[in-house]
Amino acid sequence: MRMLIMGAPGAGKGTQASSLAAAYGVPAVSTGDIFRANIKQGTALGKRVQALISAGEYVPDDVTESIVADRLAEEDCAGGFLLDGFPRTMHQVRFLDRHLASQGKRLDAVVSLLVDPEVLVGRLLDRAAQEGRSDDNEDVIRRRMEVYAGQTAPLLFHYQGKGLLVDVEGTGTVDEVRERMLAAVEAHTSDR
Ligand code: ADP
Repeated sequence: MRMLIMGAPGAGKGTQASSLAAAYGVPAVSTGDIFRANIKQGTALGKRVQALISAGEYVPDDVTESIVADRLAEEDCAGGFLLDGFPRTMHQVRFLDRHLASQGKRLDAVVSLLVDPEVLVGRLLDRAAQEGRSDDNEDVIRRRMEVYAGQTAPLLFHYQGKGLLVDVEGTGTVDEVRERMLAAVEAHTSDR
């Protein structure tokens, strides 16, 4: 299974990605986690991306794409993977399509977690209070929402056109959303 999980900041991608990946026995690959780990360790990559991420801006496509290509080349991704937070731009979509096609592979499903924007801001502010992420203050949250709406939300149409999109209502408890998501992915993949 090769899957993507998409959703606005605060939609619960990371949380649900773990369950989805576990259900299909594939690794969950989060570009956000990779960047945060590099920032924490003070690597060259971390230094390069820190200011952008703290401002709610995207990391440049070439940087992000080469990180994803390296990660997908690792052995644990050979049997499938779940990408969380990638692709986020049309450039990244095209990169991923080409990358997979060059290996005779393709995606099986793109999960879209749908959550009311009002609920999203509240969740992000709660997370800011708990985890202290540098990109979780109110101005930056607003900027991340804007960037998402402008650059990432339109990508859902691309995947819808390819018959890959699995819409999942993301409001409710973590358990409710998980059950809804797993049932929807199962239904999508079984009737293809
Ligand atoms: P969230 O889902 O809460 O928006 P992530 O943990 O997925 O956050 O990503 C955090 C930040 O890392 C993003 O706001 C962005 O700056 C950067 N980032 C992550 N993935 C990408 C990507 N595919 N392209 C560009 N920037 C990215």
